Amino acid sequence: MINHNLKIYNTLTRTTKKFEPIHVGHVGMYVCGPTVYNNAHLGNARTFVSFDVVFRYLQHLGYKVRYVRNITDAGHLENDADEGEDKITKKAKLEQLEPMEIVQRYTIDFHHVMDAFNALPPSIEPTATGHIIEQIEMTKQIMSNGFAYESNGTIYFDVEKFAKENNYTALTGRNLDDLLNGTRELGGQVDKRGRLDFALWIKAKPEHIMRWPSPWGEGFPGWHVECSAMSKKYLGDRFDIHGGGMDLAPTHHTNEIAQNVACNHHKTPINYWMHTNMLTVNGQKMSKSLGNSFLPFELFSGSHNLLDKAYSPMTVRFFMLQAHYRSTLDFSNEALLAAEKGFARLMNAMKLLDDLKSSATSTCDISELKTNIYAAMDDDFNTPITLAHLFEGVRIVNSVNDGKESISESDKSELVKLMRSMVFDVLGLKLENAIHTDKIDGLMNMILDVRTDAKSRKDFSTSDLIRDKLKEIGFEIKDGKEGTSYTIN
Ligand SMILES: [Zn+2]
Repeated sequence: MINHNLKIYNTLTRTTKKFEPIHVGHVGMYVCGPTVYNNAHLGNARTFVSFDVVFRYLQHLGYKVRYVRNITDAGHLENDADEGEDKITKKAKLEQLEPMEIVQRYTIDFHHVMDAFNALPPSIEPTATGHIIEQIEMTKQIMSNGFAYESNGTIYFDVEKFAKENNYTALTGRNLDDLLNGTRELGGQVDKRGRLDFALWIKAKPEHIMRWPSPWGEGFPGWHVECSAMSKKYLGDRFDIHGGGMDLAPTHHTNEIAQNVACNHHKTPINYWMHTNMLTVNGQKMSKSLGNSFLPFELFSGSHNLLDKAYSPMTVRFFMLQAHYRSTLDFSNEALLAAEKGFARLMNAMKLLDDLKSSATSTCDISELKTNIYAAMDDDFNTPITLAHLFEGVRIVNSVNDGKESISESDKSELVKLMRSMVFDVLGLKLENAIHTDKIDGLMNMILDVRTDAKSRKDFSTSDLIRDKLKEIGFEIKDGKEGTSYTIN
């Protein structure tokens, strides 16, 4: 029996309740993964870092967790109304590549980003293209249960019929009539009966590259059915936690629930729905059209015009954890700089921890610290409060190190265990190579001074050689009005 008091906020019930798994000691968790047609963006990274902490903390509490996070490599259309092209097909045409080349490239990029953030790989990472049979089977089952119909080779989910017997909008609590009124009229060319109906299986047009045979002719699966089919396969008809970005709740997750209920007949297929909030930059929504959206690797290299400098992956992870996953996270140079300092202070204390001198008595209360830290994590994974308490730990470490406080041997071993397990195992932070930023910066400034000196002596062959050699090893030099700067690629 796992002894804890973990409470989780459930989007479905809009309440925070004690976590009770379906099977004692086990947790099944599904998180909607990326659509691999582009570089992993920061909003996604935040979502997956948040669920990485959930995964890590559940394991830390002693649960055996099966964490499934899918890769969408087919079926995700450009908009939610089953219109437009498949995102991967569109990119493949644009770049004149096979769709699977696009999938391969961006899956690797995604894993690269997850590794940089020290996010643990999920237990299973299924792909949509690897589960076409399961998606066809689920579509057949929903049809035979009477909740889907065929129209011209495409299979639609009958939302109106489903909503007569079930609360279709339970997840968001929206009013169904308002939703209907807010959805535009069906055009003459659309085959579906109701405005809210969505495709489970889509008939492939002749030019569509990604296509599979089905009982209804050649086509490809709808995006929503992918997650229902794969969560059913690996976690069963009912499971504990389903997560994703909050933008997925109104359509993708609402439709996932409808499919699960229509297929499996369980009224509550998922017990806890968890959603992460959005990112903002200097208080504004992060968006490509506003030009304020940067990629994880642009943060790590500082190569975006909104960034004053590069920030290490662990600085960014620490920064993300300073906000609760259900709050917006606002990126700014000031906030990132503050996070960099905070992270360095924390890591400095982690390095001092082992070598602290113990005394006969303690002047510090480690058990209170432990209680506070677990209470914060148990409160819906409240990482900002957890960090605040960990900094009380940092204060104790520094005070003992400075001889201002004393710690007994047993308290010291408790403190070491607590700090290590929380900082490294649960929050997933790690020591970064000590020679990073400061020392590289000093070294680079020295090299750039030599180059400036060569230029002033009109020794351009030397200054160009320095620039070219640096470029070869990944340092890009920019000569500007206010001197020369560099970025790491
Ligand atoms: Zn999904």
